[in-house]
Amino acid sequence: MTAEVNGHRLAAEDVALLGRAAVAACVPDWKRRVLQGSYSTGVAASGGTHDGGGVVDLDTGGLSPARALEWVAALRGAGYAAWWRTRAYGWGGVPHIHAVRVRCADLAPAAVRQVEAYRAGRNGLADGGRDPHPRPVVDAQYPGRPVGPGSGDTAAVMTLQRHLGVTVDGVFGPKTASAVREYIRKRPRLQNARPPYVDAVVGPVTWRSIVGHG
Ligand SMILES: [Zn+2]
Repeated sequence: MTAEVNGHRLAAEDVALLGRAAVAACVPDWKRRVLQGSYSTGVAASGGTHDGGGVVDLDTGGLSPARALEWVAALRGAGYAAWWRTRAYGWGGVPHIHAVRVRCADLAPAAVRQVEAYRAGRNGLADGGRDPHPRPVVDAQYPGRPVGPGSGDTAAVMTLQRHLGVTVDGVFGPKTASAVREYIRKRPRLQNARPPYVDAVVGPVTWRSIVGHG
């Protein structure tokens, strides 16, 4: 399912994720900043990265560098390989953020190569330079209270989702709940009742098990 945003095609999932990242980075007019969407084959400078799904260019014109970099960080936190493309970062064209949804199943081959570059700490450009931006925080401390269905702690939910391998959107919905239950079901030591009653609420012990440290 795709939607048209500012005259460009985006998957509905990207519209939702990009919306949340924009809120996190305080960029209220993100839709008007979409310069190029997905399934877009006409732009030679993009090297085929926009041919498939999960890819977007976001105009950073008028944003302070701090705001643009915060937006990059929020996009990375939402599951995108994202880089700010400006002259300082080796880009000669219109300054923008190029973002590739890492878990998108519909990426063009050139976008898949950029995800590999991102994972390898590179900038995703032809020169194969070093990634100039900070990596997203992968692990996090236990948030201090249990995280479960409907939780409003978006950052904690996103951390769990990253570690559970489900779509990272910050919403603790049915898919995240069933991933948590599945995780607990496979680990008897996390089940403290007999017969095991497996719910989808992540307390400190389960958090440490899923995320890796306390
Ligand atoms: Zn692009």
